[in-house]
Amino acid sequence: MELQELGPAAHSLVDWMESYLSGIEHHPVRSRSARGELLSQLPSDPPLKGEPFGCLLADVDRLILPGITHWQHPRFFAYFPANSSPPGILAEMLIAALGVQGMLWETSPACNELETRVCDWMRMLVGLPESFVGSIQDSGSSANLVAMLAGRERATGGKATAKGLKDCAQLTVYTSQEAHSSILKAAKVLGIGADNVRKIAIDDKQAMVPAALASAISADRAAGFSPACVIGCVGATGLGSMDPIRAIGEICSEEQIYFHVDGAWAGSAMILPEQRHLIDGIELADSFVLNPHKWLLTGLDCSLLYLREPREVAAALAVNPAYLVSPESEGMPEYRDWGIPLGRRFRALKLWFVLRSFGVEAIQAMLRRHIAWAAELGEAIAASPRFELVAGPRLSLLAFRWRPSSAVTDEDIDSSNELLLARVNEDGRTYLTRTTLGDRPVIRFAIGQTSTERRHVFEAWDAVQEIAAGLNY
Ligand SMILES: *Cc1c(COP(=O)(O)O)cnc(C)c1O
Repeated sequence: MELQELGPAAHSLVDWMESYLSGIEHHPVRSRSARGELLSQLPSDPPLKGEPFGCLLADVDRLILPGITHWQHPRFFAYFPANSSPPGILAEMLIAALGVQGMLWETSPACNELETRVCDWMRMLVGLPESFVGSIQDSGSSANLVAMLAGRERATGGKATAKGLKDCAQLTVYTSQEAHSSILKAAKVLGIGADNVRKIAIDDKQAMVPAALASAISADRAAGFSPACVIGCVGATGLGSMDPIRAIGEICSEEQIYFHVDGAWAGSAMILPEQRHLIDGIELADSFVLNPHKWLLTGLDCSLLYLREPREVAAALAVNPAYLVSPESEGMPEYRDWGIPLGRRFRALKLWFVLRSFGVEAIQAMLRRHIAWAAELGEAIAASPRFELVAGPRLSLLAFRWRPSSAVTDEDIDSSNELLLARVNEDGRTYLTRTTLGDRPVIRFAIGQTSTERRHVFEAWDAVQEIAAGLNY
C-alpha cells in the first residue's frame, strides 16, 4: 500500500468503525463461531501478491466478525469490561501513525513527559498520596509482577536480582483466597513458587481476615520462611470483594513487609470521592495498580502502576547496555526500568485524550450510573422469588444464583445454574461469567460498558429470567 492510499483506506475504515459500533447491539454478544471455524477458512499459505485494502476490509466482515465476541456490546456483562470510547479509539490511531517506541526519554520526550503528567493527574484523581509515582504498564498482570518483584528485592536486600535465589531463605507471598490469578503467575515467574503463595482466609464478605494474615506471617517466620510481599485486593475479580487496606497495611508496616494493593478493576472507581473509603489506609501501601483499560474508557491496554519507591524497582531492573545510554535523558524517569518490556507504546496519549475529551465529571457520572444500576439490579434480584443475590453489589458487580422450584439439593441447584448460564450465553442477548462462592458456582454480572444504558441492564436481566423459566427445572 502506498502512502497516498492511506487516506481513502482510512476513511473507509473509519466509516466501518462507526457503523460497527452504532450497530453493535444487533450482534449476539458472544461469538457463535465453532472451534476451528476461522482456521478452516483461512488459506494455509501466506499471500505472495498484495491485495487492495477493500478486500481486506470485506474479509473482516466475512471471516473475522463471526469470530468476534463483542466486548463493546452494551449488554456485555461478563468478566470485567474493557471499555473503549471514541477518543480512546482515535488516540490508538494516532499512536499507530506516530509509531513511537518510547523506550527512552530521548526516543520521544513527549511520550515520556505526557506519561509523567497523566499518571500524576490520575494519582490526584484517585486520591493517592503525593509520594506515589506512576507509570503505564501493558497489563495489571505485569504491574502485579513488577510490584511483587519490588517486594522480593526488599526482602532479599537486592540479592535476588544480583545473585539469584539460591542463597536466599525461601520467600513467601500473602494474598486472599479471592486474589487474581496473576498473583500466582507472578510468584511462578519470580521464582517464589506457587506453593509459597499463602491464601489467607476470608470473612463472610470474602475480604481478607487480618488476624489470619498476621498468624500466617508469624508461623512462616518461625518456620524459617522469608515473607516478601502481601497483596491486598480492592475489588477482587470473582465477587468484587474489598480487603481491609488499613488493617493489612498496619500489619505490613509492623512486620516490614512490602504491601501491594491490586485495584485493577475497582481502582478506577476511586475517582469518585464517595468510594474512596475503600482504599482507606492506602498511604501504608508500597504500590497500587489500576487498569484504565477496564472501566475508564481507554480501551486495552493501559494499566497504571503506582510505586512509593520507584527507585527500588528501577535499581532492580536497570540495564544499561551502551546502545541505551542517553546523556540527554539525564534526570528524567526512564520508564523502561519500571517494567519488563524495553519497547514502550505511547499509551499516555490514550489516557490524555480520554481525560480531556470527556473531562473528569463525565467519567465520574458514567461510573456513578453503572454503580446505581448495579444497586437497582441487586434489588430486583433480591426481590425475585426464584433468584438469590449472593454477593454485592460491590460497585458495579454482583453475583446471583437461580433457585428453580424443583431443585432441592445443592447439587441440583448448582447444575441448574451451570445450565442456565450456558443457555444465557448461547442465547446471545447478553453474556455473563461464572464464578464460585465457597466452592459452589454462581453467576456474575459486571456493568461497565461505555454504551450501556439502564435498559440494557434490565433487558439482560429479563433475558436471564425468561431463559430460566423456559428450562425444564
Ligand atoms: C483484571 C485483573 C487483573 C489483571 O489485569 P490484566 O490487565 O488483565 O492483566 C489483576 N487483578 C485484578 C483484581 C483484576 O480484576
